Amino acid sequence: MKKICILGSTGSIGRTTLEVVRQFPGKFKVIGIAAKNNINLLESQINTFNPEVVAVYDESAAGELKKKNLPVEILTGEKGLIEVATLGHADMVVSAIVGSAGLMPTFAAVSAGKNIALASKESIVMAGSIIMSEASKKGVSIIPVDSEHSAIFQCLAGRKKDEIRRIILTASGGPFLNKSISELETVTPEAALKHPNWQMGKKITIDSATLMNKGLEVIEAYWLFGVPVEKIKVLLHPQSIVHSMVEFIDGSIMAQMSVPDMKGPISYALSYPDRFEDVLPPLDFSRVKELTFEEPDFVKYRCLSLTYDALKAGGTMPSVLNAANEIAVDAFLNRRILFTEIPDIVSNTMAQHEVSECNTIESIIDASNWARGEAEHLIESVKRIQT
Ligand code: MG
Repeated sequence: MKKICILGSTGSIGRTTLEVVRQFPGKFKVIGIAAKNNINLLESQINTFNPEVVAVYDESAAGELKKKNLPVEILTGEKGLIEVATLGHADMVVSAIVGSAGLMPTFAAVSAGKNIALASKESIVMAGSIIMSEASKKGVSIIPVDSEHSAIFQCLAGRKKDEIRRIILTASGGPFLNKSISELETVTPEAALKHPNWQMGKKITIDSATLMNKGLEVIEAYWLFGVPVEKIKVLLHPQSIVHSMVEFIDGSIMAQMSVPDMKGPISYALSYPDRFEDVLPPLDFSRVKELTFEEPDFVKYRCLSLTYDALKAGGTMPSVLNAANEIAVDAFLNRRILFTEIPDIVSNTMAQHEVSECNTIESIIDASNWARGEAEHLIESVKRIQT
């Protein structure tokens, strides 16, 4: 039985991970779970899965949960998350904390030699070089949970890096695929949160609408698969059936397909190198009317082009891009800026940043904190112009 810890157990990926655990009794034992502050859901997860250790990031929420006298140790703060991430007898850590908050726990898990099922793409975007070198030093496997990277991982199936001609990441294009640039100015958070194909958390759904999510995935693919950025392409594929493709040097292309459901990639990461039976329903090709692909418009989807800029600038720049985006998305959700101002905030923050080498996790967190402050400052000045 594989012993697993789940960082971000109350989020979309965390909940689906627990569904997979429940679907395959006897395969897994959940020994630790960690979440930000949703203690009602945590309480029911504790009762269902009986973990040994629980961490609640938010201290007052942790205090509330402790009052319930549940038969489990409750930890708190980042220290608590790290304790769950490094539990001595865990075989695998599912890293599914949204945003930059996932970085330290994920890095701690890698350093402790835990195999990782990686959903928290921001961790690898911020600190790809450090996490990957630590993983190889510790002999840790990082199995992607992101559907595109799971697809690439499955297509590669152990092939050599130098056999890859191109990695083709597919993107649904989000809810605004058919809107013009000028129509995007007036879209509301509610409209942006309606993703046509995938059920996901708020932050990633907005990132899907701006295509920042795909950009972060380009950076994620760069680190996970070790191919040059020139070989990573993005294609819009609104049906979300082909989850990504690998083209090999001889011109042969492998694609991974399934109905769009995160249970697929999550289950594969947990069961790897095996496959579980009947995770997803069969794909009925007679009902798939068409599979279409088109080049993304880099003017409309400016966030995507900013991620290529950040990757080329290297060092601390991807961390700055990521932090500025988190602040901008939050400001959009709170109606402080327009949808089309998200890339402005990210781009202007990047323009103010002096890139430095990222030799340590601390230097990355410093750059991220600086970017959060700078982006916040820029949002304040946008607001002044509007009012
Ligand atoms: Mg994805």
